[in-house]
Amino acid sequence: MDDLEDVKSLLPADSNVKDLKYEASDVVLYTGSEDFFLDNSQTVKEIVSKIKKRVEVRPTQKLSHDPDKAKSKLKELLDDEAGLEEIIFQPSLGKVIIRAEKPGKVIGNNGDGLQEIREETLWSPQVERVPAIDSKVVDRARELTVEDPDFRKDFLHEVGEKIRLKKSVGDEWIRVSTLGSCRQVGRSCFLLQTEESNVLLDCGINPSAEPGSAENFPYLNAPELDLRDLDAVILSHAHMDHCGMIPYLYKMGYDGPLYCTEPTRDLMIMLTLDYIGLAHSESANAPYDSSHIKKAVKRTITPEFGEVTDITPDMRLTLKNSGHIIGSSLCHIHVGEGLHNLLYTGDYNYDNTEMLRAADTNFQRVETMITESTYGGKDDEQTPREESNKKFLSKMKQTLNKGGKVIVPVFAVGRSQEILGLLADEMDRDYFDYPVFIDGMIRGANALHTAYPEFLSEKVQDKVHRDNSPFLKENIETVGSYNERQEVFDEGPCVILTTSGSITGGPVMSYLKEFADEPDNSLIFVGYQFAGSLGRTIQNGADQVEIDGEGIDVNLDVSSVSGFSAHSDRQQIINYCKNLRSTPNRILCNHGEESTCFSLASTLHKVLHVDTSAPQNMEALRLN
Ligand SMILES: [Zn+2]
Repeated sequence: MDDLEDVKSLLPADSNVKDLKYEASDVVLYTGSEDFFLDNSQTVKEIVSKIKKRVEVRPTQKLSHDPDKAKSKLKELLDDEAGLEEIIFQPSLGKVIIRAEKPGKVIGNNGDGLQEIREETLWSPQVERVPAIDSKVVDRARELTVEDPDFRKDFLHEVGEKIRLKKSVGDEWIRVSTLGSCRQVGRSCFLLQTEESNVLLDCGINPSAEPGSAENFPYLNAPELDLRDLDAVILSHAHMDHCGMIPYLYKMGYDGPLYCTEPTRDLMIMLTLDYIGLAHSESANAPYDSSHIKKAVKRTITPEFGEVTDITPDMRLTLKNSGHIIGSSLCHIHVGEGLHNLLYTGDYNYDNTEMLRAADTNFQRVETMITESTYGGKDDEQTPREESNKKFLSKMKQTLNKGGKVIVPVFAVGRSQEILGLLADEMDRDYFDYPVFIDGMIRGANALHTAYPEFLSEKVQDKVHRDNSPFLKENIETVGSYNERQEVFDEGPCVILTTSGSITGGPVMSYLKEFADEPDNSLIFVGYQFAGSLGRTIQNGADQVEIDGEGIDVNLDVSSVSGFSAHSDRQQIINYCKNLRSTPNRILCNHGEESTCFSLASTLHKVLHVDTSAPQNMEALRLN
């Protein structure tokens, strides 16, 4: 029997369910009965145990109170402590989105608050945390996520229907095509196919290739890829080498779902909007525009970590924490009924850091694993974090004690928050009280971190709960304009965290122009400087560099501190593979230089005695 028929047979006679439909992987019941809307847990339990799908009960538009009336009721119910900021009604979905500073105060003990909202308004509440830092980019991203609920309802329903449309299955085969990131870092993209399904894993740009050149893009012209037949796209995390080409898929005719976590969605919006902005100002035409980013966001489905989600008739997706950046995921795909299990790691860090928990190893079954290899080379050994912290702090304090300024070039997401966390710890211990200025997109990235504390380490969550958020320290100031930057120029000793991480543009250029000739100042690199970047030139000891056509003397103290990487090093990758709950039969190494991928594959073979390889781009491999 069809799932929906099963659901119908379990509904009480007075449930008054007017509409019963799939919305993506879930079943949603729209009821016209107040009693059933408010008290349905027993029925829902029975349905879930029968059909093994998530079930939600929402009110019909007719049942819900008029939005104006509901709005004033909500304002009355939610006291100041909740920090209510916005109420958005989505009548077709029966939902009211409540954005507040303290979601816990809205939800209440054991969800009492939510039940009261249901009772008093007859709307189905969804609570979202407002970032603790104002940021236009985050606001813009979040605006997009609630646009056009009518479209959203139809879209989710369509996706839901397609997931249940099982074709006749003959020979059960599974294959993966390597469309990018093999024997290279950049343009991550894999196509996973069965007779039933076509699913894409990541779709990034290659930042080291010439903009607009073929090497900049994954092999989207592979003969086995037809965007009109694509059922789903899964995004591991929001770094441009993984997400940068996703809007392009929508430009080229794909109009299906995109699966990723909520922070990944928001960050992807921020980064791709920034990318097209940058691309335009450099007059290299971006391969897509904001309408394609919008199209992607409207079709994004955001499972929580650990939630099993049907994405096609024969594939189930589970995302788990990968410890790399906020929201980054390991992607586990279960194919068929126990036929095969694939773990695609994206980028991962098997180490606890300031901000994040180490990558999750708890997967019941994995037959094939596709692992990143960035720092999987023979000599890739990470300095222990404690040591790096010490080195960084001592370099920094040396400069400050001399009355100098410290410039730390960082990428907006990841490294900047790690360093900020470290400085916040020092401030907590009263070891340090100089001003810290942050400039560039770091503010937006920080704001996003404050919106999703549940994705951060226990330590940071704890601090947030004790009202001691590392993002809201008094000494940490944001520089948002030209004038504010001029004020920093006149400051005494201070620390400046600023983009871009490898000094290829952004506000760091102005600080260098101003401070580079003074020997008491210092520049501390905490991230990789790629060949050809100005950062690499300075790291290699240049005495003079050119910025905006102007010759600048480099007299300040330059040093590099390693060990802040967001990736696992070679030993951590080996340990991760060993400690996986289920050892894979086969491991494919990607996302690394050619020699690194080969070296890691050969070591993993020796250690684990399993089949390993480092495929090149445009190979197709059968997995079962
Ligand atoms: Zn990454």
